[in-house]
Amino acid sequence: MAKKQFKTESKKLLDMMINSVYTHKEIFLRELISNASDAVDKLYFRSLTDSSVTLKKGDYEIRLIPDKAARTLEIRDNGCGMTRDELEQNLGTIARSGSFEFKKAGASGEDGEKVDIIGQFGVGFYSAFMVSDHITVTSRAYGSDETWKWQSSGVDGYTVEQAETGEPGTSVLLRLRPDTEDEKYSEFLEEYRLRSLVSKYSDYIRWPIRMEVTKSRRREGSPDDAPEYEEYREDETLNRMIPIWKKEKSEVTDEEYSVFYQDKFRDFEAPLKVIRQKTEGVSEYVALLFIPARAPYNYYSRDYEKGLQLYSNGVLIMDKCAELLPDHFSFVRGLVDSADLSLNISREMLQHDRQLKLIARALETKIKDELEKMLENERDKYEEFFKAFGTQLKYGLYADYGMHKAVLKDLVLFGTSMSDKPTTLKEYVSRLRDGQDKIYYAAGDSRGQVSRLPQVEAVTGKGYEVLFLTEDVDEFALMMLHEYDGKEFVNVCTEGADIGTDEEKESLKAENEAAKDMLDFIKESVGGDISAVRFTNKLKDHPVCIASEGPVSASMEKTLGRMPGAEQSSIKAEKVLEINAAHPIAERLKALFAEDKEKLADYGRILYANARLISGLPIEDPAAVGELITKLMLDNR
Ligand code: ADP
Repeated sequence: MAKKQFKTESKKLLDMMINSVYTHKEIFLRELISNASDAVDKLYFRSLTDSSVTLKKGDYEIRLIPDKAARTLEIRDNGCGMTRDELEQNLGTIARSGSFEFKKAGASGEDGEKVDIIGQFGVGFYSAFMVSDHITVTSRAYGSDETWKWQSSGVDGYTVEQAETGEPGTSVLLRLRPDTEDEKYSEFLEEYRLRSLVSKYSDYIRWPIRMEVTKSRRREGSPDDAPEYEEYREDETLNRMIPIWKKEKSEVTDEEYSVFYQDKFRDFEAPLKVIRQKTEGVSEYVALLFIPARAPYNYYSRDYEKGLQLYSNGVLIMDKCAELLPDHFSFVRGLVDSADLSLNISREMLQHDRQLKLIARALETKIKDELEKMLENERDKYEEFFKAFGTQLKYGLYADYGMHKAVLKDLVLFGTSMSDKPTTLKEYVSRLRDGQDKIYYAAGDSRGQVSRLPQVEAVTGKGYEVLFLTEDVDEFALMMLHEYDGKEFVNVCTEGADIGTDEEKESLKAENEAAKDMLDFIKESVGGDISAVRFTNKLKDHPVCIASEGPVSASMEKTLGRMPGAEQSSIKAEKVLEINAAHPIAERLKALFAEDKEKLADYGRILYANARLISGLPIEDPAAVGELITKLMLDNR
């Protein structure tokens, strides 16, 4: 029979499996049992609305059949089964396409450590090739009278042929590889080993996993003084079938939660936090939630789908129920099992379900509380969490016209001039100086750049703390928040950030008035988009800076300009070129106003370019500025 080829990606994965030196090859059993359990779930779920499915709840099972003589292990289920097409589609192509992208995106880890994709990600069916050199899958889809057989010995392809009609469901028959020095594959034929693997990885599976085992008993009628024993075969259920979320948190070890989470939600790392909530009364449900340690590779993209698994009394009714999670907590994985939900509820009806809304609200509060606790008691862990998902919380502040302020304002962290460690707003406010009624911030591309902004140096020089906003969303989030604890947010690069005394303000005003003609002249010469040129007394050593007036700051203009589809000219900050009145350049400009207006115009243009550079703004006509500088160099010979 002609062999069919695996899809390229599948081939790569298979190849990895076959050549794996992974030490926990045993996980293949967990993967196959989990597939069998999903198949039973599917058929059971169908039986609730489809009267042609005649199996009763107690009829379903997953069966392990080790055969030492044939050196095979069979995993059999009476679930939904697969048609010929499904066999080809599901087993010929890797279902978890994400695992490969993941591998490309981050598997070599930030710190260079190689993350083992096999053990830590869970690669499903193909993992069986780690322990077998030939696999036969025989399956009959429920309701069909055809049985099909899929066979493969690895990368060189697979065959599919019709088989004698069997029972509905699926049998996966593994021919175990020959034992080697290091690997005793024949262990997977031993009852004790299979029993312990099931209790380690699959105890919570809600369908019985059965195996016929050998037991021994006293032969009936054998004399007391010389008892005789006989062996007999008996079915044993290997799993306790209590879903892990139904157990009290104290009964479950971290390791067990982690195994469950990684298997169920396909993460290669243990979760950062496990949250369990159980309620009784008005709405009864159990929630088991996980905060992943790292953002999935597609988290900040459109591909990412938020949602929790939704169970009704232990039966999975929806895999990703988006309504259960607000966008700002979309990183949370996990499940909700409610006794009050109807099993046959449709997706559309769920969206309007009152019960579901109540649960969603309670979960949001619970997640918030848990994050606050982590922030308070496990600061390092929280900072790790925030590195992964903080941006999402900040988007949340900004989204829906600031509707989620109350939930999020104490969960966000920002960089600060006070320390290398990020700070909360509450902490900032606790450090306010006497008489300080504003929260100062500055925005830019990096901590280094922001900290050297002339205006920042001026404000920190006077002893005030400045928040360093280095993410695009930061400034927008603060704008939406408007104030914290009655203290207004003020960008130190705007007019509002004036921290001088009344006296200083008066003298500056006088100075500006006296030089009005000269300043206007510079403004005209610079042209473009500046709305004024002014002297300032807030800069320490820098000659110039750009301040902005009005609702849009210069850094916001930059961010908006970077957004896809932004019209270059759509939203602009009102920019003011500020010149340090105490800097020698001020005197020079005044002198030039009397002596050489042409040169003054050139100086003005260069100073403006200078100020834009420092603020991290692009220069519109770099060639012209370059020429001006060269001209000046030649003039000064
Ligand atoms: P995953 O379980 O993540 O989808 P797998 O490679 O383990 O990936 O399985 C691929 C697909 O094959 C499954 O999604 C399922 O549709 C099908 N499948 C695997 N095992 C069974 C089974 N025992 N019964 C029915 N379908 C199965």
